[in-house]
Formats: sequence, structure tokens, C-alpha cells
Amino acid sequence: QFPLALILSMLIGYITWLATANRMSFSWEINLGLASREFEVFCQPLLNARNQQCVGVELLLRWNNPRQGWISPEVFIPLAEQQNLIAPLTRFVLDEAVRHLDMFPKSRDFHIGVNVAASHFHNGEIIGDLKRYWFPSNAIQPLMLELTERDALPDVDHRVVRALHRLGVSLAIDDFGTGQSSLAYLETLSPDVLKIDKSFTAAIGTDAVNSTVTDIIIALAQRLGIDLVAEGVETPEQAEYLRNHGVDILQGYLFARPMPLKEFPRWLEGRSPP
Ligand code: C2E
Ligand code: CA
Ligand code: CA
Ligand code: CA
Repeated sequence: QFPLALILSMLIGYITWLATANRMSFSWEINLGLASREFEVFCQPLLNARNQQCVGVELLLRWNNPRQGWISPEVFIPLAEQQNLIAPLTRFVLDEAVRHLDMFPKSRDFHIGVNVAASHFHNGEIIGDLKRYWFPSNAIQPLMLELTERDALPDVDHRVVRALHRLGVSLAIDDFGTGQSSLAYLETLSPDVLKIDKSFTAAIGTDAVNSTVTDIIIALAQRLGIDLVAEGVETPEQAEYLRNHGVDILQGYLFARPMPLKEFPRWLEGRSPP
């Protein structure tokens, strides 16, 4: 009996140690990655559904890790959120956006979208970071913060939301409809934009249940006067359906994949006029 218990407890100890070591090595990797510029900010254009004009970009983080190669944000963002490492990454994105502002049209009608974690809203931390990184830059392009329902959005402080609105920053609920209590967020966040998740876009014309959900999200946003962005638009049929149903802005591989910031001016210039 005794040796078995001993072996078991040693095993548990080893597993706990492994888990801790793993966590430490992840935060080590992130910090090292930031210090050695392994991260890069890409951007994906957003288009006016009617005239195909580019009305903004979403900034998307990429990690080229020399030890593991390209790591998808689907992998490292949730880990970074769990381990309180998301704020430094967001600051990096803001800093890069500011350093590359001249890549974007200098227009109040062109917005720059940045993904943020709800945890970054605690104690108004995001406000401090925007005051430090974004506002001193004299960017005239409006900033839009995209909040994912992955996090517990109802915890978001009303005062922070009001302060952001006063600063002229708009809020989007990302992946709308995929979380557990989407409808509650309409109240807590008073969002300016709902982003229709790509799973709903993909359902158009193929999946009856989910394309009904798409229709209902569209109707809901229209009734509440909230702008809509559909992401993951891959086919002309999806684009046409969304346009015909009054979705204002489209984003997806049909128009452009995410690209390095430096490539954006050439992409914009190379588009044939409507
Ligand atoms: P998201 O915010 O929903 O971003 C949209 C994702 O859809 C991006 O994936 C984009 O590359 C992808 N996408 C765009 N068009 C299409 C399309 O037509 N078809 C398909 N199948 N996919 C399309 P990406 O860049 O891999 O990012 C994944 C997620 O990681 C993002 O989802 C976002 O939640 C998170 N993320 C990325 N960058 C950041 C960041 O800087 N901060 C935070 N907090 N999260 C980020
Ligand atoms: Ca997003
Ligand atoms: Ca999304
Ligand atoms: Ca997503």
C-alpha cells in the first residue's frame, strides 16, 4: 500500500510542478517575444457593403516564435488572457498602430479597430493606456475597441464605458451571438457596433438554424440603431445576402486577408475604383 501512495503523491507533485513550469515558461516566452520583437501587427480591411470603399481596418496580432514558428492568436490570446499577460500585448498593438499611422488614410471616416480583453477594463486600466499611447499621437482616425464575449463582459464597469464614449472611442461586441448572454451586453456596453461572428456568416445559404440567428441579429441591431459588421465573408453570395439585408460593413477573405501594416497602402492603392 505505502509505496503506491508515495508513487501517487510523487506523480501529483510532478504534474503540479510541470504545470507551474509550463505557465512560467509561457509568460517568459511572451515577455521575451515582446522584447525581441517576435510579434507583428497585421491589419484586415473593412469595406462599405454598398460601394466597396475601405472604411477601416482591424488590427490582428501575429507571433513568429523562433522556437515554435508562427503561433495562432487563437492559441496564445486565450492563454495570455488567463495569465494576465494580455494588457502588455494590447499596449504593443496600440504602440505599433501609432508608429505606423501614416499607413492609413488620414480621415475621420476611417476607423482603426483594436481587440481588447474585458480584463483590461478593470480599474480603468484601458483608459490610462489609451491616454498614454493613443491620444498623444494626434491620430484623427477614430478608434474602435472590439470586446469578445469569451470574457465575462457583464463585469465591465459602466464608468469605464462612459469614459470611453466621452473620449470618442467606439465599442464593438465581437463574435456576437456566440457567447452565453449576448443580450445582456447590449445593456452593459451600449455598443456602437455588433460584429456578426464568422460562424454565422458561414451559415448563410447552408445552415437553416444559424442563418435564422443571423437574420435575428441583423433585425435586433437595426431596431436598436447599432451598426453591423459581418466578419468572415468568403463568397460573393454571402456578401450579397448581407448587403441585401442591410449589413453596412463587410470583412473577410473575399476582399482581403490580414496583411502586414506596411503592405496596406499598396493594397489600398491597387484596388480598382468602384
Ligand atoms: P476575431 O477578433 O474574431 O478576428 C477575426 C478572425 O477571423 C481573425 O483571425 C481573421 O484573420 C479571421 N478572418 C478574417 N476573415 C476571414 C474569413 O473570411 N474567413 C475565415 N475563416 N477567417 C477570417 P486571427 O487573426 O487568427 O485572430 C483570431 C482571434 O484572436 C481574433 O478573432 C481575436 O479574438 C484574437 N486576437 C487577434 N489579435 C488580437 C489582439 O491584438 N488582441 C486580442 N485581445 N485578441 C486578438
Ligand atoms: Ca475582432
Ligand atoms: Ca469574431
Ligand atoms: Ca473570434
